[in-house]
Amino acid sequence: MAKAKLIKYVYLFGNKQADGNGSMKTLLGGKGANLAEMCLLGIPVPAGFTVSTECCTAYYAGGCKLPAVLTNQVLDALHKTEKIMGKKYGDPENPLLVSCRSGARSSMPGMMDTVLNVGLSTATIPGMVKKTNNPRFVWDSYRRLIMMYADVVMEKAEGLDPAEGKGIRKIMDERLDQFKHQRGCASDTDLKAEDLQQLADDFKALVKKHLGKAFPDDPMAQLWGGIAAVFKSWNGKKAVSYRRIEGIPDDWGTAVNVQAMVFGNMGDSSATGVAFTRDPATGEDKFYGEWLVNAQGEDVVAGIRTPSPINDDTKNEQNKHLKSMQVAMPATYKQLFAIRNTLEKNYHDMLDIEFTIEEGKLWMLQCRVGKRTGTAALNMAMDMLAERMIDQETAVLRLDPKQLDELLHPIIDPKAEKDAKPLVKGLPAGPGAACGKLVFTAEDAVASAKAGQKCILIREETNPEDVEGMRAAVGIMTARGGMTSHAALVARGWGKCCIVGAGGLHVDAASKTAKVTGSDVVLKEGDVVTLNGTRGYVYVGSLAMIDASENPRFQKFMTMADKFRTMGVRTNADTPADAAVAKSFGAEGIGLFRTEHMFYGEGCDKPLFLLRKMILSTTLDERRKALGELLPFVKASIKGTMEAMGGLPVTIRLLDPPLHEFVPQGAEKQAELAAALGITAEEIHKRGEELHENNPMMGHRGVRLGVTYPEVTEMQARAIFEAAAELIKSGTKCKPEIMIPVTCDVSELKHQKAIIAGVQAAVCKELGIKAFPYMVGTMIEIPRAALLADRMAQEAEFFSFGTNDLTQMSFGFSRDDIGSFLPDYLSKKLLPADPFQTIDQDGVGQLIKMAVEKGRATREHLKVGICGEQGGDPASVNFCHRTGLTYVSCSPFRVPLARLAAAQAAIEEKRQAKKAKPAKKK
Ligand code: ADP
Ligand code: MG
Ligand code: MG
Repeated sequence: MAKAKLIKYVYLFGNKQADGNGSMKTLLGGKGANLAEMCLLGIPVPAGFTVSTECCTAYYAGGCKLPAVLTNQVLDALHKTEKIMGKKYGDPENPLLVSCRSGARSSMPGMMDTVLNVGLSTATIPGMVKKTNNPRFVWDSYRRLIMMYADVVMEKAEGLDPAEGKGIRKIMDERLDQFKHQRGCASDTDLKAEDLQQLADDFKALVKKHLGKAFPDDPMAQLWGGIAAVFKSWNGKKAVSYRRIEGIPDDWGTAVNVQAMVFGNMGDSSATGVAFTRDPATGEDKFYGEWLVNAQGEDVVAGIRTPSPINDDTKNEQNKHLKSMQVAMPATYKQLFAIRNTLEKNYHDMLDIEFTIEEGKLWMLQCRVGKRTGTAALNMAMDMLAERMIDQETAVLRLDPKQLDELLHPIIDPKAEKDAKPLVKGLPAGPGAACGKLVFTAEDAVASAKAGQKCILIREETNPEDVEGMRAAVGIMTARGGMTSHAALVARGWGKCCIVGAGGLHVDAASKTAKVTGSDVVLKEGDVVTLNGTRGYVYVGSLAMIDASENPRFQKFMTMADKFRTMGVRTNADTPADAAVAKSFGAEGIGLFRTEHMFYGEGCDKPLFLLRKMILSTTLDERRKALGELLPFVKASIKGTMEAMGGLPVTIRLLDPPLHEFVPQGAEKQAELAAALGITAEEIHKRGEELHENNPMMGHRGVRLGVTYPEVTEMQARAIFEAAAELIKSGTKCKPEIMIPVTCDVSELKHQKAIIAGVQAAVCKELGIKAFPYMVGTMIEIPRAALLADRMAQEAEFFSFGTNDLTQMSFGFSRDDIGSFLPDYLSKKLLPADPFQTIDQDGVGQLIKMAVEKGRATREHLKVGICGEQGGDPASVNFCHRTGLTYVSCSPFRVPLARLAAAQAAIEEKRQAKKAKPAKKK
């Protein structure tokens, strides 16, 4: 117990000093650490203190009770804050008000809750009125406090489920609208002091009525309620679903920042704003922001009024008529601009900042590394590198591999767009193009995505509750909100096409229709629209799209990344076309060529027929004949692909067909086959029945086929060697890598290798050429093969982890049947992620690690790759690098992503090694 008293839970900041600093995000959360850092940089920040994330953990560990030792620490910090600000909390003459702000380690914009104006009560209101001589402002602050406090502390934090989904905030919002209507006011700012006082009384009555408790009038009770509510908001519904999507661990917890209030709503010399130190959509080196005169914090982000631009650089269609800060308050703008430079210099990155001006005095309320589109991330990294603000390694780390997708994203074909007339224009909040059917609610978006339908989510404005729907939609458009609204921030973070503030739209979610000013078009649910998120244009119908053209800056960036990369990147490709695409994306070879690909899709009729003939053959003669006919097809397919790779290594996997899938079902097809084999249709049917397996996934597949029917392996080896020989003759370098699938014992490899060697000798002799080099290796996809990897390596010249099957067999999860239970495992948090998408590093990862070590113990320079789906997942690529794999292989479009993820893994490893060195000396 004595030990618990030593824990420091509270960290003070203010007056150019701070207990913490910018590097303490884990303990103080991002907001708290950065508030401290800004103080240390001498930037004006209202004083306050941060209650640490450790305290949040203690709060949950103690059954949702604030630890006892917190009381004195908070009171002490509060006194110090009072001293700095020259005001006293709860004082009737000169009261200090505070905000209770959440702040997790990694920013979760708008997902958790903040309460402003805490400390206003019947005791402190008169003093505030006298002190400010501005009753309107005081009552406005008070009604805001009641609304936020009732919503955040009394309703959400208590886990109350509002009747008919209508929470207290909504009820109060409606009351406010009603009130404005009665008084004939267009805007909140038109309401007078008496109106607001009346409104506050109404709000308190509504709290009593709907929540069954009185709004607390004691400032201390408000403060403790606020702190606990922020901790509770960590487990609020929207925060939890945001964490799920972003992969933020549940046990990090949030910090609480209690900070002296400064007021942007004290009249026309007061204001509040949000800015980015550079343009977050394009990355341009332009100070970019929005502000509102006579408003408090949340007004800008909530998109309640159209915010004004802070400067000329920020002007756009919607706001160009509004007065910029640069013009309205030139001196304060200059000060803000100087802070922007100080911050960028200190953080070496683009920041997202919040500020408030109280009667002409500028205060900084927040800064954090800003979310950005992939395009912006690329441009900023290259610009800051040129400005020598960052080095090459840092530049490579600046682009999230997941954002590459977006740089390779489609855009509307400019030719199609030239002739199209936009239905409505908004702000370009998230780049690229998207086309889909309109849905009006987040739930509909989720349902539509589940049904495999592309949809565009259209909303009057989005709020954090919409986050799942925004994720599910291919594009988002809103009628209200600015470039810094929640919709814009979230969409940008995901690289999702998004248009906000399309003022011409009038969205009626209830009837699922939207009218457009100046047109008689009425958009309905299911209508198809196309968005140009780069320009902010909305078109009716579907416009043609093209792939974003080759961007020279992107090429330069990737070349730079490749310099740091030590692991190879190959691709999974089965056709010359796929191989060519992958090569253009930088693939250094093929890690998986599936022979059975030629039996699916276009042009497969003939080879498929021959394959079936082979499968349904019962005698060696029949089978050899069918194989002989199949040979030219297999050979052509392999040769074409090897040719497309132009001498880069190609790993060809021997046939691994699920036999039952290839048994013809229709009577017509059966009759055709019967004729070809010279047997009756009944006989075909009977042979098909005999092929039935109870567990085809664990049945007669892979190497087992080659064991039962050596002639099948022979034919494939012949196809490979003949193709290679012809290429070698014509001057193309080529060293085939033959991969044997589904092995579990070294004896299988020995058996197959003998067959393959025999074929090569024969082919070389027939063609009169010298034996040329080739390799035989194996997939490691059965746990037993991983366990006995040292023996497998006696025969195998390379390994490739087939992580789809390896995962399937390690978990005992049938890949084809996970749909019915895996979602429950994820939502109930029994598993952190889908192991078929990202390698299960704890379990399957151990098998991989062990197999690499054992394999290399036998064969020192054993080449080891991975060819499962996970090869294109950044976390899995990182794991593969750390585990010492020679290469990862992934689908063509993921090649750049894997290259970048591998480069970043190498840089991180280098940096960690550097850090670890001095520690070793001790
Ligand atoms: P979020 O994490 O959602 O951005 P914040 O804690 O930043 O929430 O608070 C929301 C808004 O309230 C911000 O825009 C901020 O400017 C404003 N705000 C917070 N604390 C204060 C304060 N002490 N004085 C004035 N405004 C504040
Ligand atoms: Mg904020
Ligand atoms: Mg497999």
